[in-house]
Amino acid sequence: MTDDRRLDDLLDAIAQRASAAELARLPLPETYRAAVTRREDVEATLRIPEAERDPGATLHLERVPTPAPAPDEVIVAVMASSINFNTVWSSIFAPLPTFAFLDRLAKEGGWNARHGGDRHVLGSDAAGVVIARGSLVRRWAPGDQVVVHGNWVSGEDPSAYQDAMHAPSQRAWGFETNFGGLADLTVVKASQLMAKAPHLTWVEAASSTLCNATAYRMLISPNGAGLRLGDRVLIWGATGGVGSFAVQQALAAGAEPICVVSRPERVELLRRLGVRHVIDRVEEGYRFLSPDGTTVDAGEVERFADRVRELTGDGVDVVVEHPGRETMPASIASCRSGGKVVTCAATTGAQIPIDSSIATPRSVQIVGSHFANYWENDRANRLLADGVVQPTLTSSYPLDEIAVATRLVRDGGHDGKVGIDCLGAAGSGIEDPVARAAMGGSTITRFADALSGPIDLRVPRSMEVDA
Ligand code: NDP
Repeated sequence: MTDDRRLDDLLDAIAQRASAAELARLPLPETYRAAVTRREDVEATLRIPEAERDPGATLHLERVPTPAPAPDEVIVAVMASSINFNTVWSSIFAPLPTFAFLDRLAKEGGWNARHGGDRHVLGSDAAGVVIARGSLVRRWAPGDQVVVHGNWVSGEDPSAYQDAMHAPSQRAWGFETNFGGLADLTVVKASQLMAKAPHLTWVEAASSTLCNATAYRMLISPNGAGLRLGDRVLIWGATGGVGSFAVQQALAAGAEPICVVSRPERVELLRRLGVRHVIDRVEEGYRFLSPDGTTVDAGEVERFADRVRELTGDGVDVVVEHPGRETMPASIASCRSGGKVVTCAATTGAQIPIDSSIATPRSVQIVGSHFANYWENDRANRLLADGVVQPTLTSSYPLDEIAVATRLVRDGGHDGKVGIDCLGAAGSGIEDPVARAAMGGSTITRFADALSGPIDLRVPRSMEVDA
């Protein structure tokens, strides 16, 4: 039997709601389609300056062998996935080729040896259906509709039980591990699974998980800012992946977001979401670093901080920071005394200038925040399931257009999230249309609608309370 036939049989059984036992009896394809980088491309790519590397040249759609699941793992038929910024980094081998991560993991031996090899299947988001499970898995069974979060961690790490993000074994699935979600199948730990919200399409659910949970840990979780009612929050890139969820969570939590974006359409979209304070950083012409990028322009930093104080009085309680080198001085200067800058990334450069004469007397805290533990992922997924936050999907592409989609995100040409349709047809996956109407109706597609037509002005129930 061919692999295509095996996959068709599995998809037919899923469509017919076959029982867990029936699904488990079907043979798995021996190979599957996946978006990969190739080890043999690394050397030549590293000779090209980072800014000129093209994801289209290094991302390939290939068939790779289907690994057997370890006892604590499941295999998921991936209906949809999404592009995250780590897809961009992986595809251009920056800041380093991800094969270094895979080699380190494979060296541990045992089941982890499967992660090595010359192909890296990328992707840190997925929504789909469990089709096989390892012998230790009890909570999930074939046929379950799930979303996959990217926090891959060993249950044998004692520190994982305090906060999995501190565990030495913690890795970002599909970035620091193999078998990622940009594929027709993926192999994940059962502890990466959460129930898919039945009112969302596959791609809406898949494209929300990583950024929604990252924003949750940064803003809401006690591991991040622990946001309080009435807090003022500065959010950079407020219509981007992380930002679009941070804004919704801040509004839902009764905080006041001060949003920064770079285009008038983005200002307009945020206003229609209910945001009162938006700064168009391009229109207002901020440039915090000298043209050669070596020195901070203190006058520009103060001009921005003055603008934030004009909107907030004494500055913000919390900053959602991710651009890094270019914005950190302005983030710190915008804080009130005792404020927190929570940072999950440094897209514009990791060598970050910090002016101690501003940060220290004001007791500004800089809190590093990396993705989210299982509990934080689950809470963020619950916000989505309850319609408290909505997906921010603005476009989706079939898996074979992965390079086009990754280029779009690399170039910042997108808003919200860019999804990838894998085995699921575009727009499919809504199990409960009645719940869809109750959980937000057309607000679920408001990010996409904002780009293609009139924006629906209704807001989710939780936001109505705050308005
Ligand atoms: P997006 O590209 O979707 O959004 C980033 C936004 O940042 C853009 O919309 C843009 O908005 C803004 N931006 C870009 N350049 C600048 C600049 N020079 N100054 C100010 N704003 C800028 O990316 P994501 O939101 O998905 O991810 C953001 C970063 O967070 C990435 O580096 C990603 O790798 C990281 N990340 C880290 C995670 C972790 O676990 N540690 C998890 C998720 C993401 P505008 O131009 O409108 O201002």
